[in-house]
Amino acid sequence: MFDLSGRVALVTGGNGGIGLGFARGLARNGAAVMVAGRDAAKNAAAVTALEELGATAASVEVDVTDQASLQAMVARCVEVLGRLDILVNNAGTNIRRPPEQVTLADWHTVLNTNLTSAMFAAQAAYPHMKAGGVGRVINNGSMLSIFGMPLHAAYASSKGAVVQLTKSLATAWAKDGITVNCVLPGWIDTDLTRGARRDIPGLDDNVRARAPAGRWGTPEDFEGIAAFYASDAAAYITGTSIAVDGGYSIQG
Ligand code: NDP
Repeated sequence: MFDLSGRVALVTGGNGGIGLGFARGLARNGAAVMVAGRDAAKNAAAVTALEELGATAASVEVDVTDQASLQAMVARCVEVLGRLDILVNNAGTNIRRPPEQVTLADWHTVLNTNLTSAMFAAQAAYPHMKAGGVGRVINNGSMLSIFGMPLHAAYASSKGAVVQLTKSLATAWAKDGITVNCVLPGWIDTDLTRGARRDIPGLDDNVRARAPAGRWGTPEDFEGIAAFYASDAAAYITGTSIAVDGGYSIQG
């Protein structure tokens, strides 16, 4: 049911962290994968990692805050891999700052990277998915799509809106055979959380204590959800968000 043979996936921020986890999950189940990120060396390393799994893989440099760059990314994917069936809007960033110190530039950087990019990557991908007769958009939200934290006003705002974007695109594109769903990661061990782990005393232990699973998440924890949402098994599932957080967000 999870066979993705013949499908082509495009993963923004697929060159490391959770994005590479998504890419591995898609590649392991037969999809060809286009990795998209800013850093050419990281992109090349990710392609090698996917090829070592036996997958067809390629990469494209993109700045997801630039609409023209997103359009070129999609065009390059179709040019190199022949089609586009699965778009994973994963690229993201965070600027941790108290709300009274957040600048307009901070706000725009976080909203453009996490939210606006997902809208316009999906818009660029839409005609290709529609033409192919089946499409999957998988957005990456956060546990901060659901609750707030003091240093995360911009980040939580962007991630909350990603859930609403998911629902809106899902209602618009179901008629075209395109599903749109969202993943809500908890505390995951990646470059993004390294600063918080360093700066916040006790965070490491607190996550382990509070997450019912008793550990931090890893990029490997995202392989399964990518394959599931992308597969025919999830053909009648759209507009949903699934937490991949070891149970962190279900606790009061
Ligand atoms: P990483 O920092 O490891 O990965 C971020 C990725 O986004 C990189 O591949 C980076 O590529 C890419 N990226 C960032 N900005 C841009 C840009 N302007 N243009 C193109 N690519 C960009 O972090 P994670 O793997 O943790 O984060 C991935 C996603 O998961 C994000 O959306 C994040 O918000 C979300 N998430 C993460 C959580 C965690 O605990 N780690 C929790 C909840 C959600 P490059 O290096 O080439 O710029």
